[in-house]
Amino acid sequence: MELDLQCLRCRLSEKRIQVVPPSGDLLSPVVFVGEGPGEKEDQRGMPFVGRAGKMLDRLLKEEGLARERIMITNTVKCRPPENRRPLPDEMHACFPYLEQELADKQLIVAMGRTACENLLGRAVKVGQEANSTTSINLMGKEKQVLLTYHPSACLYNLKAREGLRASIRLVRERFY
Ligand code: URA
Repeated sequence: MELDLQCLRCRLSEKRIQVVPPSGDLLSPVVFVGEGPGEKEDQRGMPFVGRAGKMLDRLLKEEGLARERIMITNTVKCRPPENRRPLPDEMHACFPYLEQELADKQLIVAMGRTACENLLGRAVKVGQEANSTTSINLMGKEKQVLLTYHPSACLYNLKAREGLRASIRLVRERFY
């Protein structure tokens, strides 16, 4: 389903400033998926422009992968109030948009527990499963998913930072 910038599919529409669409190269073979927009993203209308975004930018840059060359999106496109985790019914309501965004991708990089669990439909311990790949069925097609850490986990956790770095390196080596 094409993203509706006036979307009213769930309660997140009530308190958002705006819908936050994917950014970067929408035709990239790889997509990075986060949790949901925070305050800065809601203000700017772009994913990963706050503190977590700065961390993601830094790791991409250090690994030689330009942010403009990948596509970046979120599990839900509207900011959950007080930056709480999106609720299952909100992720469910937003899933048709995500599915559409992932349809033509060769690799989906699921960053953090929320994105991993939403895509895999099961509980995920990122600390144990980071940098493993699995496949999921999306609209009748097998899709490769790489599980990894969320950039905000990388702010204070070096294991997470090196884990996300390794994922970015793998993407760069395989696709760019
Ligand atoms: N910014 C985003 O766009 N997504 C997140 O998951 C966190 C911060």
